[in-house]
Amino acid sequence: MRHSLSTILLLLTFSSLAYSADPSSVAIHSGMLHLRNAEPREWAEFSETADARLFEQIFQVDKEKLGAKEATGWTLRLRQQDIKQQWTVRFNDRAISTLIRDENDIVHFIEVPPTSVKQGTNRLTISTKEGVAADDILVGDITLYAKSKQELFSKVDIEVHLKMFDTKEYSPGRLTIVDENGSLFDTDAVSNDHMAVRPGVIYTSTGKAEFHLPKGKYTLYASRGFEYSVRKYSFECKDDEAQVLYLYLRREVPTPGYVACDTHTHTRTHSGHGDSTVEERMITLAGEGIELPITTDHNVVIDTRPWAEKMGVSQYFTPVMGDEVTTQTGHFNVFPFAEGAAPPNYKSSVWKETLDSIYGTPGVKIAILNHARDVHRGTKPFSPEYFNDVVGENLDGWDMRFNAMEVINSGATQTDIMRLFHDWMALLNRGYQVTPVGSSDSHDVTRYIVGQGRTYIRADDYVPGKINIDQAVENFVAGKVMVSYGLLAEMKINGKYSSGDLVKTNGEKLRIQVRVLGPHWVDASVVELYANGQLIRSEEITKRIDEKLDTYGSMKRSRAKNGVIHTANWEIDTPNHDVHLVAIARGPGVKGNYWKTAKPYQPLSPKFTAELIGCSGAAWVDADNNGKADAARVYAEKIVNESNNNLPKLLKQLSGFDQAIASQAAHLYQQKNGNLIDMKSLAAIDAASPQVKEGFLKYLNAWKETERARAGR
Ligand SMILES: [Zn+2]
Ligand SMILES: [Zn+2]
Repeated sequence: MRHSLSTILLLLTFSSLAYSADPSSVAIHSGMLHLRNAEPREWAEFSETADARLFEQIFQVDKEKLGAKEATGWTLRLRQQDIKQQWTVRFNDRAISTLIRDENDIVHFIEVPPTSVKQGTNRLTISTKEGVAADDILVGDITLYAKSKQELFSKVDIEVHLKMFDTKEYSPGRLTIVDENGSLFDTDAVSNDHMAVRPGVIYTSTGKAEFHLPKGKYTLYASRGFEYSVRKYSFECKDDEAQVLYLYLRREVPTPGYVACDTHTHTRTHSGHGDSTVEERMITLAGEGIELPITTDHNVVIDTRPWAEKMGVSQYFTPVMGDEVTTQTGHFNVFPFAEGAAPPNYKSSVWKETLDSIYGTPGVKIAILNHARDVHRGTKPFSPEYFNDVVGENLDGWDMRFNAMEVINSGATQTDIMRLFHDWMALLNRGYQVTPVGSSDSHDVTRYIVGQGRTYIRADDYVPGKINIDQAVENFVAGKVMVSYGLLAEMKINGKYSSGDLVKTNGEKLRIQVRVLGPHWVDASVVELYANGQLIRSEEITKRIDEKLDTYGSMKRSRAKNGVIHTANWEIDTPNHDVHLVAIARGPGVKGNYWKTAKPYQPLSPKFTAELIGCSGAAWVDADNNGKADAARVYAEKIVNESNNNLPKLLKQLSGFDQAIASQAAHLYQQKNGNLIDMKSLAAIDAASPQVKEGFLKYLNAWKETERARAGR
């Protein structure tokens, strides 16, 4: 016998303590089990070996003892975490439900058909089908009640009134309800004309919500997305005490003159997958503070204005008709559509045909390349098979006329959060005018939060229900944006230029100020400045600087912040050629259930550290004063042409230029003169100035990677 008697007694005592509260219940499993249906391990945060491949428990039911005669139903309560695949719950071999496909920590209730419960021995299993991809999950704290779900809830009403602190007016928002373990806890609320509900989460369009909970202690978080405070309130649900909660939110992040846009939103209603109905989407958009939502269901054009009207939220945002043009070789979010315009052709796998059709569609001015490093239908557009990511070059001549790309998609984050930002800056160096985009790609009410990734577009935001779409689209195309995933990096150059501007210089030093913005519930750890994609300045952030808001007299609270986390001031020499400048701030991911940041959708490694990111758009420094922004490629072409195919001469001429221009030159030279891998060329490169050598080697390494990837085709 492996366990001592005292250990067993201790375990028995523990489980009877936890589950003896309700005499009509049977504890099936206390504590959490780690299951892994198939190898390999999905995430490094799970232990090397799992407890089991599936959950299986035999248990006894004594119906008389449980008072089952009077029972109006049977209910399973369970806790689950990190569910990505489909796990089926079987009661005596009958499939009664599935676990909720959601990574969040959730306690919820499953109805058990009364005919499934036997007197005596019963069996509960939770498993996936054979062949399902590896999924590490936690499941446990499972109890069977001889009661209906409704009977488990206290009769006492919980009523929430969510308002804005300044105006005392009701505000849309999100309520997140967690138990003492921090699990999202199911309420008895259901989605209706003013609430969108999932276990532990209630979005309200009116600021009002009403629900019930089982007796116990809970914490409620009220929130309204990135720009607002989070109000935390702990309470106990008792049998005899109604809860009427008045909760107030403040606007914390200053974003005047910028419109909060999510360019990538879906519904189950029109995309056929995910779980948010179009009605629920209207409520969640208002609840997360999105002012300009683009509706982008797959290969359809949906006008959500009638639903916004119907749900009473049209004063909070201006819906824009869009479409996710979903092809075999990539997805493009395109908008705005003229009234009645049909969706573009999505059947071609040739980008030129797709983009011709997109730009030929009445009204459409924007084509965003979505999630370029995720595999869909076997194609990853920015994989080395097709794309040299140092010079931003497609190797098969695909038409690169998209004018924006997603650098953060909060529903499909990358293992390396910087990956797509580097890709974007490489495209700028290649000479493509591409606006960076943050979006959510949310198909759900809670699994992925709508508006978590978002783009701030310079535009008049006074009346969120009547945003000038033409102005927003024009500024978007011009790159007058900021990308946000929990942070903002607001860049000002010489006190007047910002993202999307052409910076005029007189040869004096450039003064660059970057304000890192975020609500009190996020942190930033670093702010960086990039020139032509290379890191040129970096500053650690150790402490928030924001001043407390003090305009509320006795209502002053330590939590109230003005949303400015840090200000970096840098001076740089005006370069001797044009460059694009980009500011990026990063910080640790959010763990709180009210805005939890998701794990990567297609991870490259089981190791993952969640991060937040805020990125300015690009500002171009017109150092050569010719009135336009010249990309690295433009300089490289000129220098390569002047060098008459003479490598040492080329390397020498490049010495006054930066690494990005050197990489572009390496690419152009190699295309003309053959591969740069002979000993003589390598020796010449080795002798070049440091940034030229670095630019050539970076290009050659990326080129080798593409050669390897293409060799297998
Ligand atoms: Zn997509
Ligand atoms: Zn999508």
